[in-house]
This record gives sequence, structure tokens and C-alpha cells, in this order.
Amino acid sequence: MKRSIFLSLFLLTALSLAAQQTKPRVIILATGGTIAGSAAGSTQASYTPGVISIDNIIATVPDLKSVADLKGIQICNISSQNMEPAIWLRLFNVIDSLFSNNLCDGVVITHGTDTMEETAYFLNLTVKHRRPVVLTGSMRPSTSLSADGPFNLFNAVSLAASPQAGGRGVMVTMNDYIFSADDVTKLNTVNTMAFGSPNLGPLGYMRDGKPTFYRESLSKHTFNSEFDIKGLNSLPEVEIILSYAFASNIALKALIDAGVKGVVIAGVGHGNYNRDIAGELEWGYARGVRFVRSTRIVTGGVDMAAEEFDSKYPVSFLKSPQKARILLMLALTKTNRSGEIQRIFEEY
Ligand code: GLU
Repeated sequence: MKRSIFLSLFLLTALSLAAQQTKPRVIILATGGTIAGSAAGSTQASYTPGVISIDNIIATVPDLKSVADLKGIQICNISSQNMEPAIWLRLFNVIDSLFSNNLCDGVVITHGTDTMEETAYFLNLTVKHRRPVVLTGSMRPSTSLSADGPFNLFNAVSLAASPQAGGRGVMVTMNDYIFSADDVTKLNTVNTMAFGSPNLGPLGYMRDGKPTFYRESLSKHTFNSEFDIKGLNSLPEVEIILSYAFASNIALKALIDAGVKGVVIAGVGHGNYNRDIAGELEWGYARGVRFVRSTRIVTGGVDMAAEEFDSKYPVSFLKSPQKARILLMLALTKTNRSGEIQRIFEEY
């Protein structure tokens, strides 16, 4: 009798150890933002982002331990409007090394919401692995009466730990939805339902710690991306120019004079810009600057045969100006030929 109790206890311990060992290994790379923010009171609008450490954030969400074998790494603790190329390159290098050395099964990045979509898209084009990379953040600071950070983090870790999440490209989860880095954008400055994919819709949603997917991104990304940034310490400088009624060419001329490598035109309507801008584009193109036509309109995209038809300025069909800028930066690490840049904009 005693022997069988001992045997059952032994088996239970062995089984629970085996269960622990088989939990997916997820690493959280923390960069700051409102999810790491703190306010003096629990209901006020003003707060300081990027002050709470990832270890403290993890400690406030005990449920995370049931989902994954978890570790946090503090990459930086900033407001994401201060994101820098050096941090993007560091995130890329850390993720590439974690996956290449089989040190984890999925990565979560906590990030300020202002530029989350840009970091997500950069990694979507550069991390050449199938393992999940998921970004999340929050709209309310950790001290808020109903902070959204803990549940967003729980969803992000659950998604990164899910066997269904691999090979789908970099994802963002906010407010229970799962978005593709390809077309996610911030659509509200304050509300907890701040993110959307206005052209294509979410990839799916999180419920009870499990993802349900109802579409996938067919653009090239992650494991089949052609961009190889290993060893790079900087990225080509690409800026954005906004079009509006009687916009002058002063800003565009200054950028060309400053030696930028590329400029995305956030055109009006179907990617249009006025005669002053058109003249400046001709001048810049002759000096080797490459331009991409995008639009300030959130939905609908830009087609090649729009009103401003000139094939030497590639179009970014459905990409926002801020995403087109990242794709142009990476395209310029490979080529300066407009036709080739257009091919890249059609495939990614
Ligand atoms: N502006 C800050 C940032 O993007 C706070 C906004 C947020 O995280 O929601 O980091």
C-alpha cells in the first residue's frame, strides 16, 4: 500500500516536472511605453511612460507563469516617440540570436503605442524566423484604475507561446485583437481600442489565452524576406513629406540638400502632390534620391496609374507613409533602381 502511494507521488511529481519542462519558453523584450508608465493617481490622464521595469511588470501578472516559462530582458525604457535605429537593430540582433540558438520559442516586445506599428513592421521585414514575435503595450499606465497593460501582456505571452502562431509574421495584440505588422496602425490617441487594420482587418482575436485566426498576411515577411541586415550598424536615411493645399517645396528641397537617400510622399487623395513638389522630385531623382508615392488617406491605397503617373516614383499600394518609409529604407540597402524598388513594394 505504502509502496503504491509512493509510486503515485513519484509519478505525479515526474508528470508535473515534465509538464513544466514542456511549457513554451517566452522571452519578453521590454522597451518602455505606457505599459511601463506610472501616474500619481489612478484616474488622471497625465503620467510618465517608461519608468516601471519589466521584472515589476511580470510580477503584477502572476497568470503569465501558467502560460509559459518566462524571462524578461530590459532593452531600454523609453517613450516610443524616441525610438532609434540603434534600438531597432538591437532588437533584431537579440531576437535573431535567441531563435538561432534555440533559446526560446517565442518573443514578446512591450512597446509604447505611438510607434509600435513601425517597430513591428521593421522586424516583420528583417527577422528571418518562423517563431512568433508579438508586440503589445497599453493605453493606460500601470497605475490606472483599469489598466489595460496586464491583460494585453497576458494575451501577448499566450500568443507567443501558441503553436498556432508560428509563420504568420510579426504580430501586434491590443485589446484582445491580433493584427499583422503588415497593416496594423494606431487609430485613436487615447481609447483602449486604439489599433486597427483599416484596409484588411485583424488576423484574429485572443480568448481564454488562445488565438483564433481568421485570415493571414499574404505579403512576404519574416522567414521569406530578402532583406539581410546582419552586421549593419545604420539604416539608409529616409524621410516623409506630407502633402496639403498649396504645400511649398521648402521642406523637400531641404531634405534633398541634406543628402537623404529616400523620401516618401504622403500625398493627398490617390497619392497626389502639386507642381512645386513635382519639380523638386525631378531635381532630387536626378541627384540619386529615390521617392515613393503613398497617401495621407488611411484607406484605399495608391495605384500606379493614379493622377500623378510617373513610373520612376514607385507606389506603395496599401502601406501607410510610415510603413512605406521602412520598406524604402530596407529596399535601399539592396538597390537604387526604381523598377526594383517597385517590385519590392509589390511583394512586401
Ligand atoms: N508616447 C508614449 C509612447 O509611445 C506613450 C504612449 C503609449 O505607450 O501608449 O511610448
